[in-house]
Amino acid sequence: MRIKQSIISSLFLVGACLVAQGQPSAKYITKVHEKAITIDSHTDTPMWFLNEEYSFASSHDSRTQRSKVDIPRMEQGRLDGIFLAVFVGQQERDEKGNLSAKHEALQVFDSIHSNLHRYPQHIQLALKSEDIYPIVKENKRAVFIGLENGYPIGSDISLIDSFYNKGARYITLCHTLNNDICDSSTDPKGAEYNGISDFGAGVVRRMNEKGIMIDVSHASDSSFYDIVRLSKAPVIASHSCARAICDNPRNMNDDMLRVLAKNRGVIQMCILSAYVKPAVAQPERDSAKAEVRKKFGSFYSLDAEGRKLFLEDWNKVDRDFPAILANVSDVVDHIDHIVKIAGIDHVGIGTDFDGGGGVDGCFDVSEIKNITAELLKRGYSPKDINKIWGGNLLRVFSEVEKLANN
Ligand SMILES: [Zn+2]
Repeated sequence: MRIKQSIISSLFLVGACLVAQGQPSAKYITKVHEKAITIDSHTDTPMWFLNEEYSFASSHDSRTQRSKVDIPRMEQGRLDGIFLAVFVGQQERDEKGNLSAKHEALQVFDSIHSNLHRYPQHIQLALKSEDIYPIVKENKRAVFIGLENGYPIGSDISLIDSFYNKGARYITLCHTLNNDICDSSTDPKGAEYNGISDFGAGVVRRMNEKGIMIDVSHASDSSFYDIVRLSKAPVIASHSCARAICDNPRNMNDDMLRVLAKNRGVIQMCILSAYVKPAVAQPERDSAKAEVRKKFGSFYSLDAEGRKLFLEDWNKVDRDFPAILANVSDVVDHIDHIVKIAGIDHVGIGTDFDGGGGVDGCFDVSEIKNITAELLKRGYSPKDINKIWGGNLLRVFSEVEKLANN
């Protein structure tokens, strides 16, 4: 009788799985997505906060206004937690440059805090991994802060503590160029230290002590190996992909993925099209875009009027020569590969929205459920999906906290 019952229940389970693995119903996708704690570990949305015409509480059009994240669309997409990046682009690596980078970083931190004060009914600052649970329970979104680029630390290690006090819970050690901490994966000048500098080793030590996650995205391969060797805590790649699927120096090769798994770390899948799928040549679009950039300079350095004029020209390029982007299925190809090489406990999602992220089918935060749909279609269980959407990142975050001794 017991055997019979177990056979019947296994048959029932198999049946349920088949339903879930085939074409999951819209209702089932929504249920799994809403039940998961969903966290995006990397967005550059604070780039908008210094623009007076932008409101975090208003919904924007991702196509015509370029904004990919705001509170209404986070609610629509059911994103529970978000890491807002304090991004500081690199300038001169001297005393003057370091000082202005520090001020720029502090200004962005302040802009995040003023948004948190402005909309307390919708968003709340999260400083510990476990903070997200009560925030979600109150039907709010948890806002975590990451510092993208260690350049504002300059040569003053005590600034790590200052940024921690402002809420930073990860630091991306470098950006597109080498800095005083380590080599970048994309500096046209090549390696400067063949990994991490002596100062960088001190940065890693202090971050471990404070309980700040070390983010290896943008770091060169040698920097990655140095960081993992030096760090006492697991590390994250807040927005990176698999190099075996898309050959780009920003992505991690299979050996790095295995080393990351051994370190108990996590790679958060970036959905910036050029890192997901080799770009299709679009010479007319590229030269039209280059013209716009030449005319106006960087979008994010413009004032409100400048941005408006920039967008008029930029949207015309989009209409005349629509971008050929990777899609959600391409994104999940990377997740499949990472799971195969590193395991289901070492992958998450960091979209890079507002920093270039966005693919067909998941162009802004309102569409993130489509990733859940594709995962279910490929046979991932709700438990796996919980891990991918935030469980793995929270596990790493809590290990980093436990190993801290500040
Ligand atoms: Zn980045």
